[in-house]
Amino acid sequence: MSVLYGKVALVTGGSRGIGAAIAKRLAADGAKVALTYVNGAEAAANVVKAIEAAGGTALALRADASDAADIEAAVARTAETFGGIDILVNNAGIFHAAPIETLSPGDFDRTFSINVRSAFVASKAALTVMPDGGRIISIGSNLAVRATSPGLSLYTASKAAIAGLSQALARELGPRGITVNAVHPGSTDTDMNPADGPHAREQKGLMSNPAAFADPGEIADVVSYLASPAARSVTGAAWTVDNGANA
Ligand code: NDP
Repeated sequence: MSVLYGKVALVTGGSRGIGAAIAKRLAADGAKVALTYVNGAEAAANVVKAIEAAGGTALALRADASDAADIEAAVARTAETFGGIDILVNNAGIFHAAPIETLSPGDFDRTFSINVRSAFVASKAALTVMPDGGRIISIGSNLAVRATSPGLSLYTASKAAIAGLSQALARELGPRGITVNAVHPGSTDTDMNPADGPHAREQKGLMSNPAAFADPGEIADVVSYLASPAARSVTGAAWTVDNGANA
């Protein structure tokens, strides 16, 4: 499959979990892929190796999503190396759940800098090197629209902001044929949220099929579609992939 042949993608937080699956999938679709990480140099190198072993082209870049200069440098390096950026996937994120009484303004700033400001900074920078018809896809969460348990104030607010940012940018960038969408995964089996973790049973109880955490590859499938030419009329949308948890 080479539906993205000739395209360049940048995936933030591509060393593990959902981001790694997206990086591999977009490379399998034919795109040259740059992926960022903050601590996982070895994991990122392994994603690059896996992509190259499958015949693709990839580059790993250290870029802390909480640092605007790091993100801008990663965008610039991707564009210099591969010639522009056609597809930006804002995936890097953290999950900090705690009762509001215990949270500080610093906690708020950290979650928002990584989960929201990074998407704003990366989008702004990528737009300077993105041709008309490009794609911006941001990973939100099904918790953006429904807080399913206590302690989610920071996370839910940050992911709701991703949905709002995507809608507003979709409106703004429509004249350039650039589509902007959010993908809202539900419980997905990664280091952040293992399918056998302490909170898995409670999450499974919300699903229409109580057995099933998603595999990261299932989220990557949706991103692959949104990145493809076939999705040119899909913009300003939020795609929930949560096994019915919010139904
Ligand atoms: P993981 O914790 O498994 O992986 C997180 C990835 O983001 C890693 O590649 C990590 O890099 C990177 N990352 C984290 N912080 C930073 C940072 N400051 N700068 C750059 N990269 C960073 O998470 P998931 O794969 O589960 O989550 C990916 C996205 O999906 C997140 O936005 C998350 O909120 C969202 N999501 C996840 C769900 C789930 O159930 N798993 C459900 C709904 C949404 P490194 O290896 O260097 O640490």
